[in-house]
Amino acid sequence: MYPVKILLVDDEIPFVKTLTKRLSRRELNIITAFSGQEALAQLKKDPDIEIIVLDIKMPGMNGLRTLEEIKRDYPLVEVIILTGHSTVDSAIRGMRLGAFDYLVKPCDIDQLISRMQEATEKKRRLDEKWPD
Ligand SMILES: [Mg+2]
Repeated sequence: MYPVKILLVDDEIPFVKTLTKRLSRRELNIITAFSGQEALAQLKKDPDIEIIVLDIKMPGMNGLRTLEEIKRDYPLVEVIILTGHSTVDSAIRGMRLGAFDYLVKPCDIDQLISRMQEATEKKRRLDEKWPD
């Protein structure tokens, strides 16, 4: 299986940097964005992105709005929502908008990795069904 390319989207820069470092050690190909707008720009630029880990609470375009746009334009990209305790309701709404799953911060890194693996497997199964 070719390495999975993951886009990490969160407005908290230190959080993104720490998580990127930890995930990169597991030989995952991580790219980052610090806002919804930036995430959409990255997606447009890089069609190999398979999984997006998306923060809910971000200034400007929030996670749910970003998710809506992702699912409209890239329906086969799988999105895992990261949420704080105060925004779990939004994360549940995100599931209805087509998110693969949500995790509550601070989340366990092994749990995040296993959800990413499951999301990758699902995406690649769907890619085989509908090749472009
Ligand atoms: Mg945030």
